[in-house]
Amino acid sequence: MATSGEEQQSQAGRHQEVGHKSLLQSDALYQYILETSVYPREPECMKELRELTAKHPWNIMTTSADEGQFLNMLLKLINAKNTMEIGVYTGYSLLATALAIPEDGKILAMDINKENYELGLPVIQKAGVAHKIDFKEGPALPVLDQMIEDGNHHGSFDFIFVDADKDNYINYHKRLIELVKVGGLIGYDNTLWNGSVVAPPDAPMRKYVRYYRDFVLELNKALAADPRIEICMLPVGDGITLCRRIQ
Ligand code: SAM
Ligand code: CA
Repeated sequence: MATSGEEQQSQAGRHQEVGHKSLLQSDALYQYILETSVYPREPECMKELRELTAKHPWNIMTTSADEGQFLNMLLKLINAKNTMEIGVYTGYSLLATALAIPEDGKILAMDINKENYELGLPVIQKAGVAHKIDFKEGPALPVLDQMIEDGNHHGSFDFIFVDADKDNYINYHKRLIELVKVGGLIGYDNTLWNGSVVAPPDAPMRKYVRYYRDFVLELNKALAADPRIEICMLPVGDGITLCRRIQ
């Protein structure tokens, strides 16, 4: 456990990298990872999208560069081809996915906000991967319900990245478990929720952190108890829980 002195020191030293919600011991260590292995290998288009996003007022929402690199590697390791993303924003994780999957790979990408997607779209187009993306504007839940009703998408997704409204993650899981194939992966993002999952209930927290915290806690318990999946919670970014469907 960090002493309060250490906590103060690390808070004071928190660096301002966009998308940085690192849970590492120190910011220097996180900076080391970025400078040693992430930025030198970040594709030019990812860098351009990251820098463009950094200027946007809601840049706190973006996926960090180290998590983007992780997703890109993960998708290649599992040979993902048919994928889905819920929560696109300007598209940093979307581009990491689009670059990782084959030429004929697909991403069903959903967001209630098309404007932010359109900010990043020219970069995605320039990178030559826009043809892999089927963007749907609107809430994701009704689209999932429709796909389940249609009946021809069951067990068809290799990978699904969930990075949208945390109060709906449990509702997404109920549906996604049917849509992901057996052996496929669902990644739930922000499952350590700014570290608030271990904060005492009366600790000072930003309003939105407090609001979503209970949903994240509930999700984490539900995933750990779900016999249909194997799970692995990784302290990358703000925490990502990988769920591999086994039945
Ligand atoms: N993955 C993105 C990236 O790499 O930059 C970040 C996504 S951001 C954290 C969350 C996004 O979820 C926002 O763009 C928001 O508009 C979207 N969102 C919120 N509620 C949604 C819903 N019900 N259905 C689909 N998208 C939603
Ligand atoms: Ca996220």
